[in-house]
Amino acid sequence: MRPVQALIDLDALVHNYRHARRLGGGRALAVVKADAYGHGAVRCARALDGEADGFGVACIEEALELREAGVRSPILLLEGFFETAELALIERHDLWTVVASPWQVEALERHRPARPWTVWLKLDTGMHRLGLPPEAYADAWRRLQALGWVQDMVAMTHFARADELGEARTEQQLDAFDAALAGLPAGTAASVANSAGLMAWPRARREWVRPGLMLYGTHMLDAPCEAAAALRPVMQLQSQVIAVRELGPGEPIGYGGGFITDGPTRVGVVAMGYADGYAQYAPAGTPVLVGGARTRLIGRVSMDMLTVDLSGHPDAGVGTPVELWGPGLPVAEVAAHCDSSPYRLLSGLKRVRREYGP
Ligand SMILES: *Cc1c(COP(=O)(O)O)cnc(C)c1O
Repeated sequence: MRPVQALIDLDALVHNYRHARRLGGGRALAVVKADAYGHGAVRCARALDGEADGFGVACIEEALELREAGVRSPILLLEGFFETAELALIERHDLWTVVASPWQVEALERHRPARPWTVWLKLDTGMHRLGLPPEAYADAWRRLQALGWVQDMVAMTHFARADELGEARTEQQLDAFDAALAGLPAGTAASVANSAGLMAWPRARREWVRPGLMLYGTHMLDAPCEAAAALRPVMQLQSQVIAVRELGPGEPIGYGGGFITDGPTRVGVVAMGYADGYAQYAPAGTPVLVGGARTRLIGRVSMDMLTVDLSGHPDAGVGTPVELWGPGLPVAEVAAHCDSSPYRLLSGLKRVRREYGP
């Protein structure tokens, strides 16, 4: 069997969720979109079911996968519905939805409900992606309230740059949000923070927080933050050395021959490539753990294999375990070498078998 697998530590996931919830001080929606950022949405949601106050997904397909797996907690559609045909499914499967565009408000006004709804109404406070502009927000709120069957409403917004500590734009987004909130009924529940907002911006901790990336034990904050230090990595991406070569100086390695040995070099071939989701353009020097010791990528990553420098690792040989990222090597550090992000590396895994522990 090809020795490539992602070991998922569900205890670490639960630990990170509890940390997020405690930090937020209210309720916490566990974001498990994109197959739980590559960790397996069903297994992750089951591990948190009964504990999490709810789950966040990108679309109804992801929500139904959780319902079919027996997840009973609230599930919020973070992008709302894409077409009115989904309204019946939202009702049947007891889902919550974001409303972020005028056409969605109009669709709800035409809908004949069979039960009360929970709607999170999204305000655009400066990211300029989804959300109603501030001048349209109070009116949309009032129209949804007037329907009579939208029983619970949460005011929400989303940050563009919360992982940049000290970024003035985030304070401006918070100001814009609070200004809009002032026009809503007193006691309205609010939700502002993603992981970075939750960890780095105490002002963003409202009735609901929406941690995603931090649940998986990593972050992209650009400065040290105490709240991030408590996270435990959930995934360990594992493989093995499958061949070893001893090369002299001046020898090219891999496709394109762009990497040339500068002295006698012991090369390890690892079963892991870009078809598994490893970054295709990870440069020479990207860290890799072989037998628990740090070494570096050399030569170009190919579809199914990559090569590492074992020159200082005489004990490493065929069968030696390799960690591409995990508790011993932060995925964010690997991403920084690859001009990528932990979001993309984790959610981009393919062909990788997942094993769940502990
Ligand atoms: C994905 C998402 C989140 C979670 O973001 P992280 O940065 O992964 O914590 C929160 N809110 C919304 C609306 C999202 O789409």
